[in-house]
Amino acid sequence: MRAPLGTTGLILNEPLLWERGRPGRRGASLPAADVPPSPMDPELCGDGPDFPDLSEVDLVRHFTRLSTWNYGVDTGFYPLGSCTMKYNPKTHERQAALKGFAAAHPLLPAPLCQGALQLIWELERDLAAITGMDAVSLQPAAGAHGELTGMLVIHAHHQHQGHQRSKIIIPDTAHGTNPASAALCGYRPVAVASGPEGVLEPSAIAAVMDEETAGIMVTNPNTLGLFETHIREIAAIVHDKGGLVYADGANLNAVMGIVDMGAIGVDVIHLNLHKTFATPHGGGGPGSGPICVRRRLEPYLPVPRVAKAGERFHLEADRPLSIGRMGAFHGHFGVMVKAYSYIRSMGADGLRRASELAVLNANYVKERLKKDFHLAYDRPCMHECVFSDADQAPFKVTTLDMAKRLMDYGFHPPTIYFPLVVHGAIMIEPTETESKADLDCFVAAMQAIAEEARTEPETVHSAPHRTKVRRLDEVLAARKPCLIG
Ligand SMILES: *Cc1c(COP(=O)(O)O)cnc(C)c1O
Repeated sequence: MRAPLGTTGLILNEPLLWERGRPGRRGASLPAADVPPSPMDPELCGDGPDFPDLSEVDLVRHFTRLSTWNYGVDTGFYPLGSCTMKYNPKTHERQAALKGFAAAHPLLPAPLCQGALQLIWELERDLAAITGMDAVSLQPAAGAHGELTGMLVIHAHHQHQGHQRSKIIIPDTAHGTNPASAALCGYRPVAVASGPEGVLEPSAIAAVMDEETAGIMVTNPNTLGLFETHIREIAAIVHDKGGLVYADGANLNAVMGIVDMGAIGVDVIHLNLHKTFATPHGGGGPGSGPICVRRRLEPYLPVPRVAKAGERFHLEADRPLSIGRMGAFHGHFGVMVKAYSYIRSMGADGLRRASELAVLNANYVKERLKKDFHLAYDRPCMHECVFSDADQAPFKVTTLDMAKRLMDYGFHPPTIYFPLVVHGAIMIEPTETESKADLDCFVAAMQAIAEEARTEPETVHSAPHRTKVRRLDEVLAARKPCLIG
């Protein structure tokens, strides 16, 4: 087997704490007691929990070793398409951990949390400026929650116009959460196929748009990593029939401060702060999926809203057209502090530059790999590029095989089999934080795998070989998860 590029293969085994424990081991040695022992009252604590006896070093090594089995953005390159797994500078974590922010109770009265309210107020305005929209709500707790909030706003708008509608147009490249969010609001998703260029064609929208259609949900840049070039024309078609344009802005990392979403006809857009703005996606922690709207939709935004009178901030709940609360309090505040810190440290020019570099890196990877892998749409991409396994199919090597093999080379696999419109999709999002040297390393690993697919397909087919566990039965793992080791 070829020498892997990014790993040397030291993976420590680790038994369960119960297997490690030995009777009599202690975490701390206390001086002999000079008072008689007093047994615990069995009425109160029964036999007590069956904890193993362990020394301090047993415990520290156990958890430290387990932590090395994880792979994250701080470990290495993480090209998971659509998730924007970029490196997030630690200073933002530090700001979020400041006591005044981290320990602020959500029920504090406004006069006692002016700083927190000011941060929310200013972040709303920053996000409005970055997207070219007019008003923002930071309440939604994640991207899909933002979609639901945005759909409820659209629903409230049509209700207020006096005629509720029944359908919503959703392209075939959409993230699965889009039709789900629309359906939760009672709208029937109407699927529209993207054209041969990988983007929506105005004629396809005109063919389905009618006065029973509430609007369109369109991801821009779309999940093929392509900018919807006809978006203005499409927005005009939808608006002409009284519909609204919802943009899924999860891919904002490609266009921060570059595309004026208001000017291209968007009425509502959600952002993923936990992708674009200094919190990693899928890190297991909380997220934030704010929605940004045009002025005429502002009255429908969730309450309470942070408002400013003179130099003081307060919460406003008395807004009769509001869709109400989308959560118990104000959203995930820690994620907002990180986003605020990121935006302020980057500045407008820095954000624009980050997007430019994200796009440059994706195009670099696309150009370097397109000889070895079939490119679904061979045209300049935005922040991610989508290949398929068509070139490897003659050797019976699949996208899944190659994703597993990448782990042997020390890389987190890209997103696979999404978007659904590309058979065997391999979706690579390098982000702006990777150096050319690291990208070259990844490209070399992908090229090595393409070569292996031709010359020793069995090696790829049976990968991974160097990981903690080998190829898992994913169906069995999902249906009958083994949670005890
Ligand atoms: C990530 C993503 C979402 C959903 O965001 P969550 O925070 O995971 O709910 C929606 N649409 C697109 C295009 C995405 O990439």
